[in-house]
Amino acid sequence: MRSLYGKFLLFAVATMVGSAIIAFLIINTYYHQFLKVENDAKNMHILEQIATYVEANADINLNDYLTTQANVGYKLLLVEKKLDKNAMRTFGEPFRLFNLDFRTIEQVLDGAEYHGMRDLPRETFVTGFFSDELANTVGTSFQHNGSTYALFLRPNIKMLFREVHYLLGGLFIGMATISLIAMLFGAHKLIQPLLQLTEATKKVSAGKFGVSLPIRSKDEIGELAQSFTDMAKELHRADQVQKQFITDVSHDLQTPLQQIKGYTNLIKKGNLTKKESAEYLTIIETETERLSNLSRQLLLLTSLTQQTKQLTITSFRIDEQIKQVLRRFRWQLEQNHLSIRAKLEPIVICGDEAQLEQLWENLLSNAIKYSTEGKNILIQLHRSPNHVKVMIQDEGIGIPKEHLPYIYERFYRVDSTRSTEIKGTGLGLAIVKRIVQLHEGNITIESSVNQGSKVTVTLPFKKM
Ligand code: ADP
Repeated sequence: MRSLYGKFLLFAVATMVGSAIIAFLIINTYYHQFLKVENDAKNMHILEQIATYVEANADINLNDYLTTQANVGYKLLLVEKKLDKNAMRTFGEPFRLFNLDFRTIEQVLDGAEYHGMRDLPRETFVTGFFSDELANTVGTSFQHNGSTYALFLRPNIKMLFREVHYLLGGLFIGMATISLIAMLFGAHKLIQPLLQLTEATKKVSAGKFGVSLPIRSKDEIGELAQSFTDMAKELHRADQVQKQFITDVSHDLQTPLQQIKGYTNLIKKGNLTKKESAEYLTIIETETERLSNLSRQLLLLTSLTQQTKQLTITSFRIDEQIKQVLRRFRWQLEQNHLSIRAKLEPIVICGDEAQLEQLWENLLSNAIKYSTEGKNILIQLHRSPNHVKVMIQDEGIGIPKEHLPYIYERFYRVDSTRSTEIKGTGLGLAIVKRIVQLHEGNITIESSVNQGSKVTVTLPFKKM
């Protein structure tokens, strides 16, 4: 059986049958070990009471008395000792097997007790209790009106337990039927959410991310359904980011390429003034720079992501490195009328110099790009016993709270329409995050819209 439903049913039925067999074996062993002896003694006691009563009451009609006893629920064999041939008579329903040998009967007539119920050979599956045979009796002898008798007795189980049997049989069949139906129903209920999950998985793999699972249970399947829904949402978002990226990249590639093509054609025609030619060439140069920047960042991020080799660790002054990066941005700061304040402790750290330079460059370029004219930027560098902490704080446009969890993702840009002037690739923070990770550091960004952003990078002191 391949389906879970089939396996569950098979398991349930096997459990029912298995437990019934084990229970039967246990009861059987218990019968052989304890009940057999007890049963034999109990019946022998009844037989002795009958024999004592008959011996004490010489005037009773033996046949009538034994018939009455048989009617109460016993099977009896009465043997009268005679000189030539013993006379036998049964009372109650006939025995199924008449298998008592004559030597035993003679011994009982001579005064011995017979304990067939106790001494019947052990059989595993047919309990002696139900075995309707003459050997499975108890026997004793008594005197009545001058004659010697041997009397053998066993309970008439059929008569005594017929109703109980029906009741027990009915109970068992009822229980088995109800539990089977319950199991069928339970298995169906158990499998149902899995079928829904399979269906949802197929939809997601076909690109339909908007799945909703009506599974509300709090068990493991409920948890699985919740994780699946979360995963589908995450995939949906990643898919949208990817699509947005393709749109962005094609736009970012197309715009400069069209500009370059357009201005090249104008220059080729040749009827331009010197000033115009210089202006167009500058535009071509800027656009080429932008294209080169995009491809450079893409390449860098790919190499950082695939990096399996160790970092190139050297020791250097991190404050000097940041100052150098600041110098490179001086003209941009002036152009945007931004003032910058740097509080940098002289600190030597071990790290990948080139990567860390890239990191400060990206963060500082964001602080400048997303600052409005005339605002301030603050850079601080501190040491703690185990870490260096760098804070870059601006008073720019800020990042809406709902975007904060995603800004480290590749190509993620907060609403590009916010400022059409700003040309970003959405790769800067992904690169920053990766570099921080490679240095086993940490980065946090606190931001509020139109108030500014504060980026904090913490790097551990690495050993060479
Ligand atoms: P980009 O090349 O677009 O700047 P980044 O990965 O560096 O890409 O940044 C992702 C997005 O996070 C940016 O598009 C911008 O919307 C936002 N962002 C990053 N830094 C800042 C900042 N200092 N102030 C405001 N927004 C920022």
